Amino acid sequence: MEQPIDIDLERANVAYADLAGTVCRCCGLPKQPKFSFNGFCYHSLPARMKRSLWDREHYVENYFAALAWLRIRFKRQNVEPLEQQQDIDRAGEVNRD
Ligand SMILES: [Zn+2]
Repeated sequence: MEQPIDIDLERANVAYADLAGTVCRCCGLPKQPKFSFNGFCYHSLPARMKRSLWDREHYVENYFAALAWLRIRFKRQNVEPLEQQQDIDRAGEVNRD
């Protein structure tokens, strides 16, 4: 489903401002500019999501997918690994345009 252009622009503005900025949107701790997240959050991502952040053509959607994945992971650390993985898979689908 196609999104209205103003929402796409808003998401792109946020994604590239975060990339240039010095605060990790996931945990609120400092990060290096030109990196999507700080080291802790970045290294918590699965390998395919780490790689996806280097795909410049799809950066905006991949950044928000990674952010959604991290938020679910950190909010629900006490759930069973299988249940957690299913939630993560659903988040990935929601954020895949
Ligand atoms: Zn972080």
